[in-house]
Amino acid sequence: MYSEIESDSITCGSGLAREDGQTDDTDLRLIAWKRAMRCLLFACLLLASLPSFALDRFQVEGYTLPNGLQMLLKPGTERGHVAIRLVVGVGIDDFSCAEKELPHLLEHLLFSGIDATGEGGLEERMQALGGEWNAYTSNADTTFVIEAPAKNQRKVLDLLLALLTQTRIDDNAINAAKQVVEREDGGHYSHLQRWLDRQDLGHTASNQLAVELGLKCPERAEVDHLTREQLETARKAWYAPNNMTLIMVGDLDRLLPAYLERAWGALEAVAPTDHPPLPQIQASAAHERTLSHGFVGGGAKLHWLVPEPVLEDQHDETFDLLKDYLDWALYRQLRLAHSLSYGPSAEREVFGGVGFMSLNADVERDDVPQAEQVLEELKAGLLKDGLDADTFNRLKQAAIARQAWAVQGNSALADYYWSALGDYEEGRFADPARELQGVTLAEANKAMRELLLQPGYLRIEKPLMSYDQVMWVVVGVFALMMLGLLAWRIHRKQ
Ligand SMILES: [Zn+2]
Repeated sequence: MYSEIESDSITCGSGLAREDGQTDDTDLRLIAWKRAMRCLLFACLLLASLPSFALDRFQVEGYTLPNGLQMLLKPGTERGHVAIRLVVGVGIDDFSCAEKELPHLLEHLLFSGIDATGEGGLEERMQALGGEWNAYTSNADTTFVIEAPAKNQRKVLDLLLALLTQTRIDDNAINAAKQVVEREDGGHYSHLQRWLDRQDLGHTASNQLAVELGLKCPERAEVDHLTREQLETARKAWYAPNNMTLIMVGDLDRLLPAYLERAWGALEAVAPTDHPPLPQIQASAAHERTLSHGFVGGGAKLHWLVPEPVLEDQHDETFDLLKDYLDWALYRQLRLAHSLSYGPSAEREVFGGVGFMSLNADVERDDVPQAEQVLEELKAGLLKDGLDADTFNRLKQAAIARQAWAVQGNSALADYYWSALGDYEEGRFADPARELQGVTLAEANKAMRELLLQPGYLRIEKPLMSYDQVMWVVVGVFALMMLGLLAWRIHRKQ
């Protein structure tokens, strides 16, 4: 298609008349006119067909099997490969503090083997099919991520199905999986670490605030006490077709729909379990706190965290753009104008059912008061003058432009559908570029005012002592020793 257009477009333009050896002016004009018309016609055809050139990534064929299993199938541009994402609607948020590791442990257990060959045998089967797989447990879901050669796509799906239906959970497998999960969480949860967590010394600033506000469990979840019964119950309740979405992107087999209906349609649906409500802010937290991280050091981190007010329309797009704006404003003020911070940033984070915006800066320990001052001036300036229209529009256009290359290839597309499942409706995903385009300066200003008018929470992370303080302690101890020695000598002489 491309080469055809290219070869024709070469003959458009200058040097047309000489092509056929014509010399007569009238003929020349006639030929040039005909050529021009052809070029025009071609340009029209090209423009009309442009949308079909670019793969419309937002249009995806989706349907639900009679057992409730949701399918999203998208032919991709890359041949010979398929990206598979099986999203199971169970995550960390679905369990109480004591059981938080249950879905993660279950995810690991499902890889422990479908027959006597165990975990190794299962992995060998996937290797033989030329595929790779992994799984992730997040707050909202558990997802199996597979990349595979297109020619083996049905065999790979068979293996995934076997993992879901045939894995036997025994005590040996449970103990092995517990060790792996514990190691992934940063090793054994020691008494010291638990004590530090209870003293608020082991959390980062935003996590610490989430704990204070009752949005997050105060201690790290453990796996030791989880039982086989709990695992079986969780598996039965959540690992059902009516709680799963199968996303496939790439060089899809023509027989895939028939295969899926036959093989995956055989899974039995269960009575759905409701997701528990997400925690909301339940307690109050101090406006300002200093958190000690480490023992000695010259650096510090400044965080101002604030809950995002809930907007009726375009909440995420508006706050994404506001984040870009604040990010740039911090960089201009703290790095370029005042040289106080190397990498200041604005971040968005969600804890339980509450989204937070944070303004963050890495600073020198002694510069904390000055950085606080600059931050206050920045907020006051925005509240007084509003967002700068040119800057807002520039950053908005950049965010829209970014959408053109943000998702490339089968795997990235599959990941994108996974992340945007909530935005899928009637065969289409919402187009982020269009949603961003819809955010006006007035709306962004309103959201900014509601955000910055709140007092928020100031958190300063710094090591217990600076190098200077350590030096003075050493000098002090040395002086005390000298004094002691002197006193002892005087005492002996007497
Ligand atoms: Zn894991």
